[in-house]
Amino acid sequence: MINGSQVVKCRKPHICHGCRSKIEVGEYAARSVSVDGGKIVTAYWCEICQKVMSEMDSYDLQDGIMFGELIDNMMEYWLKAKEEIDGTVHKRRIK
Ligand SMILES: [Zn+2]
Repeated sequence: MINGSQVVKCRKPHICHGCRSKIEVGEYAARSVSVDGGKIVTAYWCEICQKVMSEMDSYDLQDGIMFGELIDNMMEYWLKAKEEIDGTVHKRRIK
């Protein structure tokens, strides 16, 4: 169960919990803290996975997401979110 997340600027590299991609130093990621069998687990999520999750039903999120699950099981959504984010980044660069 995820007990909330906050967006942080990474001071060291992390691996995204949803898609296993590397989050570089200085990039923004959502950090979530959850309790798993009495253990506190911290996970980091890249911008793409944040978008995929924001479009998922909260019902699906209740059981938690396995490491790499967003790209393994929801690649179609993931690629669509990536395309949209890449599109915005591209537009930002043109300005
Ligand atoms: Zn990710």
